[in-house]
Order: sequence, then structure tokens, then C-alpha cells
Amino acid sequence: MGFGLCMLAKVSQKISETKMKRALAQLKRKLPGRVLTDLASRESASVDNLRISILPHAVIRVKKGAEVGVVLKLANQYGIPVTARGAGSSATGSAVPVCEGWVLDLSLLKSIKLNQYSKIVSVEPGVLTEALQTKMARYGLFYPPDPSSKKYSTIGGNIACNAGGLHCVKYGVTRDYVLGLEGYLANGAFVEWGLPLKKFVSGLNLRDLWIGSEGTLGIVTKAHLKLIPLPEKRWMGMFAFKNERSALACVSRLLKAGILPSMCEFLDRQSVDCAERLTGRSIFKAASSVSLLIIELDGSSDQLRQQKKALLEITKPMAIDHVEAKTEKASEAILKVRRLCSQAMYSIADTKLNEDVVVPIERQYDLIRYTLELKKEIGLATPTFGHAGDGNLHVHIMYNRSNADERKRAKKGIVKLMRHVVSLGGSITGEHGIGLAKVPFMKLQHSKEAIEAMQSVKKALDPNGILNPGKIFHPFEVWDHQTVDKKMPWDH
Ligand SMILES: Cc1cc2nc3c(=O)[nH]c(=O)nc-3n(C[C@H](O)[C@H](O)[C@H](O)COP(=O)(O)OP(=O)(O)OC[C@H]3O[C@@H](n4cnc5c(N)ncnc54)[C@H](O)[C@@H]3O)c2cc1C
Repeated sequence: MGFGLCMLAKVSQKISETKMKRALAQLKRKLPGRVLTDLASRESASVDNLRISILPHAVIRVKKGAEVGVVLKLANQYGIPVTARGAGSSATGSAVPVCEGWVLDLSLLKSIKLNQYSKIVSVEPGVLTEALQTKMARYGLFYPPDPSSKKYSTIGGNIACNAGGLHCVKYGVTRDYVLGLEGYLANGAFVEWGLPLKKFVSGLNLRDLWIGSEGTLGIVTKAHLKLIPLPEKRWMGMFAFKNERSALACVSRLLKAGILPSMCEFLDRQSVDCAERLTGRSIFKAASSVSLLIIELDGSSDQLRQQKKALLEITKPMAIDHVEAKTEKASEAILKVRRLCSQAMYSIADTKLNEDVVVPIERQYDLIRYTLELKKEIGLATPTFGHAGDGNLHVHIMYNRSNADERKRAKKGIVKLMRHVVSLGGSITGEHGIGLAKVPFMKLQHSKEAIEAMQSVKKALDPNGILNPGKIFHPFEVWDHQTVDKKMPWDH
């Protein structure tokens, strides 16, 4: 084991093997049974959905929130890197222990406590997003933030990445539901940012600093989350368009007309082609290779009737075909198309650069047109789908990692894409965060002064730089690193 061998030498100072062993022995004494050093445990904590793997020295599976304080106090004393981990579904490498050290696995912290008066639920970070939604639905309550990974992702990971998802267009992102947080600072001290209350404006708002900070500023051990009433009814339709221009023009028209879908997902023709190739059949019998919109409406029966009428009036002259889901099962079948296309892209090449850029709603077609130009210029496929109601599109660049020329072209393509996004008034990331994968583009998005201000906050909250070092600020070029061929739970 290469103790203290950090991939990013500048980030963490070398820790001697003797010191590392001493720290680990102390930790094992303080938290018996929680510290795993076997290869299988270290391997499974070494990787997230970016699939770059760095072995940590140990994995600590805490069973109580207070144990997090014990781990951090010791790690801070010895200067050992600590990477928090929920389900490891991060798309950016944010959960990869790039500087080795210890992985703090929070997935066993799973308590859920609902206050029936305030409709605020207090949850531990290891609770799975979908499990929380299902449990709250039994009380007629709705926790809307729902990344496509919700079956696997944890609330702690969602908060640390400020996760978005399919219902954001109407209901907002994770941040909009976090009323308060409990957790631990880098030095192991317990802190509370807010309480399970609907109003709280006491002191500086560090709660919002932690949300989306990717485990670099503190570790969340409890979250107080706002719930809303479960919508009475839902309706879903899938619409086919002859090209991306008409699909995205339709989105603009719907939103301008004041229709507020609870979901508005877009797929370009390249993505649809992938899904159709995988299943061997056309999604719409009348036409193959179409661009798609998947639209969901929700609300009371009256609201739904009115909205659906207005929606169909707008879509009828624009779409070439559509299907409506009459049952939950039929809605699931429609959503399966969206899920399928992501995995189906691997029929084009073995690696994808998976971006989650955001542009103003009315400029989405400008972005799509650019991805098509880029496809020609770099000679690599650029299938794109995403949350068109938010302007948040997942642009992919597909390439074969073992092919040096394709790697070079993919890199060129991604840099050009990010420049274009920023020139359209957009963001380099809308929900995945920076992690390792987006570091090269931080300077495109933020001024030198803004990055320095962020680094001062990091320094103030984590002076020894032990919390998830190597992320957000430190140079890393994802295309230069070998990925592992590991089957993840969400791979179909
Ligand atoms: C198939 C698929 C679909 C996806 N779809 C979406 C989507 O629609 N929208 C979206 O936003 N994302 C999506 N993602 C990305 C990912 O699922 C989300 O970022 C999710 O929030 C990560 O949760 P996790 O539990 O897996 O966190 P992890 O991957 O384990 O960790 C993510 C980050 O959070 C930190 N962290 C974890 N727990 C804590 C804690 N308790 N305290 C402090 N820091 C912590 C980690 O250190 C890391 O930096 C998708 C991923 C996959 C694989």
C-alpha cells in the first residue's frame, strides 16, 4: 500500500506510513468493528460513476452520527484525507478518494422521523431518495427532488451535490427543500445549521454553503426537509418531432403559454437512435429517428384537464405523433425510453464524457445546433438528452478510450462545448457539480477573484484540507485517466 501517495501531490502533504498506521490503530480502538481494510471493501469504495478508481487505505462504515465526529477529529489531527460516501453514484468523480486516505461511508445512517404537524421530515444521510419518497407518499406527502438515480442515491449525496432531477421544472432542486442540517466540521466539532423549523434566519447561513459543496466543507449527519402535499393526479405523454428544432420550439411555446409541466424531458435524434438500436424497434411506428419530448402534468382533476387541453392545442400542430399513458405502468414504460438511451449510447463507443450544462431556455436549440456542428468537426457522436424545462441538457461525447486520436478529439470537443455554453450565458454544470471531471472549466465560469473567495471559505472551514481534497479546485484532466470496467447497481 502506497501510504500518503497522493495523485495530486500539491494537495496533501505526505503522511508517513508509521503515522498512518498509528492513526488507523487508534481509530480501530475508538470505533471497534467499523473500520474495514480488506481489499474488497476498499475497492468498492474506490470508485463512483465516473469509474476512475483510487484505493483508500480504509473504509469506515459509521452506524451513529456521533461516530463521524470521532473519525474527523482523528483525521484532522493526523492530516488524513477523508472522502464522504453515500451510494457512489456521482457522475463527476466527487466520491473518488483521489488522495487515498479514509472513505467515510454514511450509507448505514438511515433513520427517518416525520413531524406530522409541520410536515418536516428529519432524515439521516444514508436514506435512499426513492425510499424517502415512497415512505412519505403513504402520508399523502411529497419530497420532489428526484435525480434519475433516486433508487440508489442517498439524501446525503443529494445534498452534497444539490441534486436536481426530473421534477425540477415545477418543484425545484434539493436546496429548495433543505430547512436545516446537522453535521460535523473538519475538526470533528458538531454543528447545526438551522433547525426543523419553517423559519430560521439566525446568524450566517452556512447551511446553504454546505449544500452543493461536495463534502469539502463538512459532513452532513442529519437533514430537516420540507415536504409538500402529494399531487392528486398525474398525466404523461410522449411526443415525437421531426427534429430537435421543433421539439425545443414546442418547449418554449408551452412555457411561454404558462403551462407548467411537472416533467419536461427532451431526447435528440442521436439518443433516440441509440435506444431504438438497442431494442431493435421504432418507438413510434409511424417514424423512426425522431426527437422526443416526455411531458408530465400533475395537480387536481380540474387543473389537469385544463392544462392537458392547453398542452395538446400547442403540441398538435408541432408534433408528428404522440402517445398518452393511461396507467402508472404505461408512464413507467415511457420513462424507460429515457433511461434506456443513456446506457444504449455505449453501442457507439466505450466511453462517454457526460455533461450536465445549463443554458437559458430560449437558447437550447442554439446549443443543440452547436453539438451537431461539433459532431461533424470532431467526428464523434454527441447524443444529448435532458431536462428541457430547466434548460439543463446532458450533452455526451462518445469516444473509445484506447484510441489516442479519439481521446484527443473528445477533449477538444468538450473544451469547445464548455466555451460555447458559457458564451450562451449558461453554466458548466446544473446538477452533477464539479468533482474531478469539471475542474478544467472552473476558470471559464468564474473569475480569478471568485475562485479565490471560494478557496478562502474552504481554508476557513477546513484549514488542514482533509475534507475531500483534490476536488473542485485542483487540476485534473479526466480523459488522461484509465477507467475501470465495473458493473454498478444502476447499469442495466
Ligand atoms: C444513472 C444515474 C443518473 C443520475 N441522474 C441524476 C439526475 O437526474 N440529477 C442529478 O442531480 N444527479 C444525477 N446523477 C448523479 C448522482 O446520482 C447524484 O449526484 C447524487 O446526488 C449522488 O448521490 P450519492 O448518494 O450516490 O452520493 P455519492 O456519489 O456517494 O457522493 C457524491 C458527493 O457527495 C459527498 N457526500 C456524500 N454523502 C455526504 C454527506 N453525508 N455529507 C457530506 N458530503 C457527502 C461525497 O463526498 C461526494 O462528493 C445520476 C447518476 C447516475 C449514475
